Amino acid sequence: MNVTDDKTIVKEYFNSTGFDRWRRIYGDGEVNKVQLDIRTGHQQTVETVLSWLKADNNLAGLSICDAGCGTGSLSIPLAEAEAKVYASDISEKMVGEAKEKASQILANAENPTFAVQDLETISGSYHTVICLDVLIHYPQQKADEMISHLCSLAQSRIILSFAPKTFALSLLKKIGSFFPGASKATRAYLHREADVVKILQKNGFSVQRQSMTRTRFYFSRLLEATRQ
Ligand code: SAM
Repeated sequence: MNVTDDKTIVKEYFNSTGFDRWRRIYGDGEVNKVQLDIRTGHQQTVETVLSWLKADNNLAGLSICDAGCGTGSLSIPLAEAEAKVYASDISEKMVGEAKEKASQILANAENPTFAVQDLETISGSYHTVICLDVLIHYPQQKADEMISHLCSLAQSRIILSFAPKTFALSLLKKIGSFFPGASKATRAYLHREADVVKILQKNGFSVQRQSMTRTRFYFSRLLEATRQ
């Protein structure tokens, strides 16, 4: 499978079965046990990012690009904390849901701004660029290109999460249970931390804070890197 296929499949998935599945997982309605576990794990990742950013005490007015924003799980609380958020996602459906949620929760309809856009084509310059749980959909070489592009947009800081290769066997098995069956599936790629750090360094960034969220079915390594 080539890279274009990966992206086309991911886009179609998040506009169809993937949308229904992840909207439920990222929502607050009733879900099955596996989905509840993934919801809990993902919330922990989001909470960790929010706690890092809030600890710096400079969120108000800070420009943040949330690349692959999904249903707005991070963008919306960041906007609530008065950051200026530029949220985008390759999936029209995910962006639609994010907008709907934002309109229910936030008083200001202009922040975040939402766009249907693949992250490879994002332009502009942002204090902080964040990309959570997106790289899992792409092989290493493509992930390297994506990370390099995101670094080029970041004035000061980039925050990324990925599924670490260390847990390969158990993770692959578990991913099998939340991406079941070829018709519903996207491939799940694991990334070696050393490879991610190397590409960050190549782009002039060094890791400052790191975290690992691990539940039964959700594994996400989180890195914050700043410009050297
Ligand atoms: N970042 C969000 C979060 O943590 O709540 C969503 C994570 S969800 C597992 C992955 C998201 O990445 C989906 O919404 C999908 O549409 C998006 N995505 C996948 N490939 C993308 C790409 N090349 N550019 C932008 N978004 C992409």
